[in-house]
Amino acid sequence: IDNTIDANELHADRSKMHVSKEVAVSLTGVNKWYGEFHVLKDVNLTVRKGERIVICGPSGSGKSTMIRCINRLEEHQAGQIVVDGTELTNDLKRIDEVRREVGMVFQHFNLFPHLTILENCTLAPIWVKKMPKKDAEEIAMQYLKRVRIPEQANKYPGQLSGGQQQRVAIARSLCMNPKIMLFDEPTSALDPEMVKEVLEVMIGLAESGMTMLCVTHEMGFARQVANRVIFMDAGQIIEMNEPNEFFKNPQHERTRLFLSQIL
Ligand code: ADP
Ligand code: MG
Repeated sequence: IDNTIDANELHADRSKMHVSKEVAVSLTGVNKWYGEFHVLKDVNLTVRKGERIVICGPSGSGKSTMIRCINRLEEHQAGQIVVDGTELTNDLKRIDEVRREVGMVFQHFNLFPHLTILENCTLAPIWVKKMPKKDAEEIAMQYLKRVRIPEQANKYPGQLSGGQQQRVAIARSLCMNPKIMLFDEPTSALDPEMVKEVLEVMIGLAESGMTMLCVTHEMGFARQVANRVIFMDAGQIIEMNEPNEFFKNPQHERTRLFLSQIL
């Protein structure tokens, strides 16, 4: 996986990336079951504003479930999740507010196929934020420029490559002006030659100070921009460290085994 991308080619400058003392997201004793199946077991995690967290681990370890709980695409049954000062409870109004602050990018881009790229980007700002169409379009064009595909604005998703569609998905999220971005294996459905163009956009976002939680097995990206790498297995956070230590000195046998399989 790692050999498709040379970390040094990506030019992230970690010294530019500031981490605040303020907490963006906290999970405290979070537990979740799917029926009988205990999918998240006492998960504890504090993410500060401006941090970039990379989450890795074997398939089925609960990575997607954990980040989906942060924007309430999934509900946890025990413990506490606080996003930008708001605890996630059954209060629907609060959940709406939190969702506006948390952008999410999925493995399969989830663009609306019957809407143009520009319409995909303006839909939520117009309907959720009640933004005038003209303003929404102006903002969308700014973000499409930032992900380097403004010329695709009037095409449909099916006319774009996978890498371009994923960059649209990122731009679409940014149009809602989120405080936190969640990524769930954003490059794992892409052909290798398109991985880099998406990672470069994510690195630019990291450099802009965005708080990011990224489920990815792109270890070059992790080394380059993450301040912490988390390893999950069987619903638990097994290990968490800054990238150099994480890769050089994995503490747990399961982490070593996992790294030996993907690196
Ligand atoms: P990962 O993202 O690490 O691959 P997931 O969070 O997707 O893992 O899934 C963790 C476990 O929970 C897997 O065993 C998966 O089969 C199970 N699971 C995920 N979603 C559901 C669901 N909606 N209902 C029942 N089991 C689920
Ligand atoms: Mg997953």
